[in-house]
Amino acid sequence: MIKFEEVSCRYPAFEEGEETATALSGVSFKIEKGSFVAIVGHNGSGKSTVARSINALLLPFEGKILVASMDTAQSDLLWKIRSTAGMVFQNPENQIVSAIVEDDVAFGPENMGIPVKEIRTRIDEAMNATSVYDLKEKSSAQLSGGQKQRVAIAGVLAMKPECIIFDESTSMLDPRGRRDVLDIMKKLHEDGTTIIAITHFMDEAVKAERIMVMKQGQLISDGTPAEIFSCPELIKEAELELPAAVRMRMLLQDRGIDVPADILDMEALADWIAAQRSDDGDNN
Ligand code: ADP
Ligand code: MG
Repeated sequence: MIKFEEVSCRYPAFEEGEETATALSGVSFKIEKGSFVAIVGHNGSGKSTVARSINALLLPFEGKILVASMDTAQSDLLWKIRSTAGMVFQNPENQIVSAIVEDDVAFGPENMGIPVKEIRTRIDEAMNATSVYDLKEKSSAQLSGGQKQRVAIAGVLAMKPECIIFDESTSMLDPRGRRDVLDIMKKLHEDGTTIIAITHFMDEAVKAERIMVMKQGQLISDGTPAEIFSCPELIKEAELELPAAVRMRMLLQDRGIDVPADILDMEALADWIAAQRSDDGDNN
């Protein structure tokens, strides 16, 4: 449902006549409806530019971007595109527009001209899905960072988007807040929403079905988490970290213990080790 065809972008220059560097060059990919994709890459590699381009905040100077068959270059479709592919940013402060939680969540659907009764249902559903219903009468200023981020997600959900792009949306949160947001992503994906998670936490990226790796404005790799993290040259080239479980797998390998390559998170690794031990026990 999201398609980039040979997309190249650059940001507008500060001064007329000034040349800006190309932020994306020749990027092509397709993201199917209902999928869960992570986009990773070093700082400045173009991840946020991909997100902004999907939302028509930036138009390509070459190539074409389709969001549910709508061309982002068509300015009359702008609101439709932004409500189809909603965006959750890094800093929830920048996304909260109303002083009261409930009003904030209602902002999107109100601007879409949705009937009042329908808005009520939507904001209640969105606040329930993000566990902020009990906070609905609170002032946004009273909330913790994690709560603010959940309110921001509720605001996007209330527009019933087909796709939600999380641009480093967990990076300013404490571990609890981060876990809450990840749980919401997982739940939304299970319910059929397309999730695009931009992250520099590899332990989060492994939870996606697919990882796209960016470097210097280009898409340099695209595959399952197991494929991406079984390629040390790629990890080095893209200057990525390894997920904790993969680091541990390599340490175990150095000690003569072969862990299957599809084990990418700590839970799965712990399960595998426990299973080995009980196998040993059975053999004795
Ligand atoms: P990432 O999100 O992966 O860190 P970005 O997409 O923000 O990377 O940046 C890609 C490139 O575009 C970088 O070279 C960055 O300097 C440039 N860039 C990003 N935002 C702007 C902007 N608002 N104006 C000019 N250049 C920008
Ligand atoms: Mg970014």
